[in-house]
Amino acid sequence: MVGMRELSRREFLKASVILSGGLIMPKSLFDLHGGLELHKSVGESPTICCFCGVGCGAIVASQGGRVINLEGDPDHPINQGSLCPKGMAMAQINTVDGEVNPYRLQTVKYRAPGDDKWVEKDWGWTLNRIAQRVKETRDQFFIETDSEGRMVNRLEAIASLGGAALDNEECSLITKAMRSLGLVYFEHQARL
Ligand code: SF4
Repeated sequence: MVGMRELSRREFLKASVILSGGLIMPKSLFDLHGGLELHKSVGESPTICCFCGVGCGAIVASQGGRVINLEGDPDHPINQGSLCPKGMAMAQINTVDGEVNPYRLQTVKYRAPGDDKWVEKDWGWTLNRIAQRVKETRDQFFIETDSEGRMVNRLEAIASLGGAALDNEECSLITKAMRSLGLVYFEHQARL
């Protein structure tokens, strides 16, 4: 029993010396080399995925104004570090290899009914065209009274579909504007 106790004590001491050596070594190496040099200046920013209403958190690493890494934020309460494929592709929204993504549309494209070609349009023309079509549709389909003569003042020929990138205030304004036209069909991408 005494021999076993001495052996255990020796083993314990040996293990302690190895462990302290392991802990001390990096510190002494660090001092010897005068600190570890960083070769890249990398910025990291937390952000929220812009693609859907889940609102996952992500951490974006950038260098020289370019995204070099993107991953789920492990501290975010919703996704806890995970991202779906759309979220992982967020870095490609603006740039691919430092250039503006050539597949991202930068201008309005219009295809007239029955045509097979897309034509580039400016925003002035586009907003006027949307307003014109909304007015025509409302004038044609606005319902003042239902089949029993009760006043309803509604428009069933246009629906409103919101996007997940809209915030509460924008959703509130859009809903008010659409209700003032008489719309009754509302949907939101986050609910689909
Ligand atoms: S698109 Fe994916 S990563 Fe982005 S918020 Fe929705 S679930 Fe999260």
